[in-house]
This record gives sequence, structure tokens and C-alpha cells, in this order.
Amino acid sequence: MKRDVIVLGAGMVGVGCALHLQARGLSVALLDRRAPGLETSYGNAGIIQREAIAPYALPRGLGFLLSGMSNRRVDVRYHASGVARLLGSLWSYYRHSAPGAYQRISREYETLIAHSLETHERLMHDAHVEHLVAGRGYLMLYRSERELHEFFKIADERARMGVHHVKLNGAEVAQAEPALIGDFAGAVRWTDPIAISSPGDLVQAYARLFAQRHGTLHLGDAMTLRRTDAGHWQVDAADGVLEAPQVVVALGPWTTELTSRYGYTAPVIPKRGYHMHYTRLPGKPLHSTVIDAEYGFVVAPMKDGLRLTTGAELAMPDAPRTPTQIDAAEKIARAVFPLGERVEDEPWMGTRPCMPDMKPVFGAVPSVPGMWCAFGHGHQGFTLGPITGELLAAMVTGAQPRVDVRPFSPERFAR
Ligand SMILES: Cc1cc2nc3c(=O)[nH]c(=O)nc-3n(C[C@H](O)[C@H](O)[C@H](O)COP(=O)(O)OP(=O)(O)OC[C@H]3O[C@@H](n4cnc5c(N)ncnc54)[C@H](O)[C@@H]3O)c2cc1C
Repeated sequence: MKRDVIVLGAGMVGVGCALHLQARGLSVALLDRRAPGLETSYGNAGIIQREAIAPYALPRGLGFLLSGMSNRRVDVRYHASGVARLLGSLWSYYRHSAPGAYQRISREYETLIAHSLETHERLMHDAHVEHLVAGRGYLMLYRSERELHEFFKIADERARMGVHHVKLNGAEVAQAEPALIGDFAGAVRWTDPIAISSPGDLVQAYARLFAQRHGTLHLGDAMTLRRTDAGHWQVDAADGVLEAPQVVVALGPWTTELTSRYGYTAPVIPKRGYHMHYTRLPGKPLHSTVIDAEYGFVVAPMKDGLRLTTGAELAMPDAPRTPTQIDAAEKIARAVFPLGERVEDEPWMGTRPCMPDMKPVFGAVPSVPGMWCAFGHGHQGFTLGPITGELLAAMVTGAQPRVDVRPFSPERFAR
């Protein structure tokens, strides 16, 4: 089965690439070992984060580092074995999180986030998925007056960059979300983001749109990728062998397992996260997604119940699960949010593929003709999949991308 391009990986990033390559007139095959959108793009908090114009920095304060070492924080946990393997990358992450470097990185990051809503909205319109929109905006909730006022300053800075918000005091929080229990200093309601009621369903709807537009979806193992004598790429799919002159590797945290076979290894920092759904308590609705800023977890009203998602666990993607983080988050969340019974027996787990410089990686794989990659979207890959796809498709077809793509080049990790 011959195509112009094979895209490996049908998460939000791979599907975004496949749709935009197709929109540029290429015949595209999309391959995954599972149905589309069943890994990290399935289990996230479902926010299309137009407000996230700065990526997640590593907090550099001594207090955070000391409390982090105890491994009892709710927002960040770690496996000692994982940290030992990631020491070099974490040191690089720490250095990139220094104020000067972080400001430069955030300016670059913002150029992508600025297009995240419009690129999603176009696809959402074409895919007829208005029913997956749970609501507009979300709440960033604070208990401490001091931290709330610090965050108000950040919100004001972002307002100058076109990101909209409303400030709420404690009484206004109680009015907006009467089911929340506790004395809150207040909140910022970001008003631009879109909250999705089932992130996996959105990826699947985009994949269906790709198929309706004559793209082909295949099951198969990307690790069977090989070169032909003619310099094309071949990969084994359940329904035959796919062949194309170009391949895009968009395997999320697994991307460099494949590219390293061709000499390209980039330092992915895996930040794992867990989720669990809870039944809704009668007469106590939660109207919008809420981030508990102090403890770093999210509660989102979703199709399958109220979804609690955790912060980061630094551990290798294949290391045993340690759902103590979700147990800790649940304990705190139960005192505040209207959580009923657990819906699933076991928590879901996925891995955010983060880079030490906090920016995604997309473009031509250095020194491997015909191989492209798109990965490393960290905390915002659900948001950034479509704009990444648009820019990568421009590069593959030799067109001028509308954003300066140099800050996101795979070259920065070439050895
Ligand atoms: C708890 C949590 C909450 C989050 N909340 C948000 C949020 O609110 N907003 C946001 O923007 N982002 C959020 N994120 C981040 C976001 O989910 C990720 O950045 C994004 O899903 C990454 O997409 P991806 O397509 O790169 O990877 P994935 O979705 O992981 O897709 C990779 C694909 O590759 C496939 N694959 C892997 N190996 C093979 C192989 N050998 N052969 C074939 N196929 C293979 C997998 O099956 C998978 O479908 C969150 C993440 C977590 C963990």
C-alpha cells in the first residue's frame, strides 16, 4: 500500500499531523498499535489551554526542592530509579527554568499557544463535535490570599498578551460553584480555554474526519519501520505493508525509542500522571473544570464522571505504577469537591513527554532523509496537536510555516 506519507502514532499530535498533511494534498496513512487517542491523549484533563502561554517550569526555590525530596507532595512525586536515570535532563530543565532563559522560552512557546484555539475550532467545526464541548474556561482556585494576589499579577501580564480572565473573590467562587466546600481566597477564571468532556473522543472524531477525507487508518507496530533499497520507508500493518518516501514519527513518549535506531536520541523527561472518575453527587453539580492551584490536581466534569487528574510523577513510562499520588489527591479533593464513588477499579496512567527546555520538538530528524518527528509537547500536547500538525505539514511540503519553527527544531538535541 503506497502513500506519500506514513504518520506513526495516532495521539492528538499524530492525528493533527495526518489531517494537515492530507489538507496539503498528500495521501496519508496513519498507524498506531491501538485505536486513535487511547494513550496520553485519552486520559488528560481535556483543556484546550489557550491561556498556557508559558510552559511548566521546574520550581527553583529551596522550599520546593526540600519538600519534593520527601516524596510526599501531592503535585510532584518521583521514583528514585527514574530520577537517577534522568539526572542530566533534570539539571538541564532546572537551568532552563532560570528567569532569563524561561522568559525567552515562554516567548517562543506563546507563538504556538496563540494558534491553539483557532486550529482546534476549525477541526471541531469540520468534525461536528460541538457535543464534546463541556464548557468555556476553567477556574484556578486558591486558598491563600498571598498566592491568589501573586497569580492575579500573572493573569494581568497575560491579559496584556491577549489572554482573557475574570478575577473572583471567595464569595464569588462560592456563588459560581456552590458545591465546593471550604474557605477560598478566590480564583482566576480563564475565559478563553475550551473544556472537552472526553479527550479521547475528540481525537477519535478528528481521526474519523481524516478517514472521511480518504486518509487510511491502520493497526500495527511502528517499531517494524525499515528502509527499502530505494530509500523509502516500510512498516508492517495488520492489513498489509505500508510504504512511503516520508515518515512522521509522533509516538509521544515512545518517539525516541524509534528515532534512536536511526541515531537521533532526544532527552525526554517522562512526567507520568493518573486519573480516576467519580460519580456525581445528586444536587451538587460542578459547573466547570477546576485546578486546585495549591495541590496541583484538576477536577473536570466529564462524560464518564468527575475526572480527577494528578500532577507529575517522575518515573520511566514502563516502571511499575505507584498510584499513591492519586490517593493523596483524592483525600484532599474529597474534602472540597462533590466526589461520589470511584467509577473504575484501577486508576488510568499516562505519560507527558516533556523536554528539558519545555518546548515541543518537530521538524526533520537530523541526518535521516525522509524522516520527520513531532513529540515532546509535555503538559499541553492536547492543546498543541493541531497547530503542530499544521506547521509540520508546511515543512514536509516545502511551504513557509506561518510561525517561526526554528525554536522547536529537532536539531537542538542533535549530537
Ligand atoms: C494527567 C494529565 C493531564 C493532562 N492534561 C492536559 C490538558 O488539560 N491539556 C493539554 O493540552 N494537555 C494535557 N496533558 C498532556 C497531553 O495529554 C499530552 O501532551 C498529549 O496527549 C501528547 O500527545 P501525543 O500525541 O504526543 O502522545 P500520545 O497521545 O501518547 O500518542 C502516542 C501514540 O503513539 C502510539 N504508539 C506508541 N508506541 C507505538 C508503537 N510501537 N507502534 C504503534 N503505535 C505506538 C500510542 O498508542 C499512542 O496512540 C495532560 C497529560 C496528563 C498525563
